[in-house]
Amino acid sequence: MKSKNAIEKKMNLTIILSLIMIFFIMLISCGKLKEKPHSTGKIRVTTTTTMLTDLVKIIGGDKVEVTGLMGEGVDPHLYSASAGDIEKLANADVIVYGGLHLEGKMTDVFEKLSTLDKAILNVGSKLDKRKVHLIDGKTPDPHVWFNTEMWETEARAVAVELGKFDAKNKDYYMKNFENYKIQLDELTNYVKKRIEEIPPKSRVLVTAHDAFNYFGEQFGLEVRAIQGVSTDSETGTKNISDLANFIAERNIKAVFVESSVPKKSIEALQEAVKARGKEIKIGGELYSDSLGDKQHNAETYIKTVKANADTIVNALK
Ligand SMILES: [Zn+2]
Repeated sequence: MKSKNAIEKKMNLTIILSLIMIFFIMLISCGKLKEKPHSTGKIRVTTTTTMLTDLVKIIGGDKVEVTGLMGEGVDPHLYSASAGDIEKLANADVIVYGGLHLEGKMTDVFEKLSTLDKAILNVGSKLDKRKVHLIDGKTPDPHVWFNTEMWETEARAVAVELGKFDAKNKDYYMKNFENYKIQLDELTNYVKKRIEEIPPKSRVLVTAHDAFNYFGEQFGLEVRAIQGVSTDSETGTKNISDLANFIAERNIKAVFVESSVPKKSIEALQEAVKARGKEIKIGGELYSDSLGDKQHNAETYIKTVKANADTIVNALK
């Protein structure tokens, strides 16, 4: 239970951040911040997640300078903007964020920023709405990047937005997108081929939180998770016990932990499966809401999706 003190502290922080936000909006409205020269002559883009940072670097190439707010292993569902982040957003020429409530605790910030004369791209809003899953008929599932075709749509939206902002380099951004599209098609084929190595009855992906529905839908895996689509919710013991029954009945060999979610819920699940007389191993760590790092050869979106596919297939085949 949260103490009254903690709630008060949180409220104070919210008020402070709102004041900082208003301060920056005033500065920008007065033209003070806009006069700040670009140190590199490049377009300043501020992004939220590591996936988007990678994407904008690829599409923007040497014409952009990208600042990502979230680092590797950071959970976007729980991320709150700091005063420094608000400054980075206020100073950007172009802002790119995931939308679909991915950055759930930053909604206010984006709303306030939208009152400014600034290019703000909500990539989630560019997707075909019929393809976006709704949970309980209303909340969108934001993990669209794991469907490589939806990611391609978002990549195109970034190229279009940069081309609008910087019309003289419009063709350059579109060419970068076309090159990236070829790589994404190769990635799609790679993942499809690898998933085929898993016997059809074993194509079940059990993870810590519900980030892989789009991936499962595209590549033919049944997806189950302990936690819902946002990590911002408590794990019920009923969830664990239902899932443990499912795993025991279906004889599933492995479950997966995620780089941006604490491992304790998966460990609780392992115990519950054991209590039903079955063993389940941890098949490895998947990247869900953040890319991996260079050391693990997963510092880009393409490498991350490949690494996930390899981890899944090697544990389930
Ligand atoms: Zn997530």
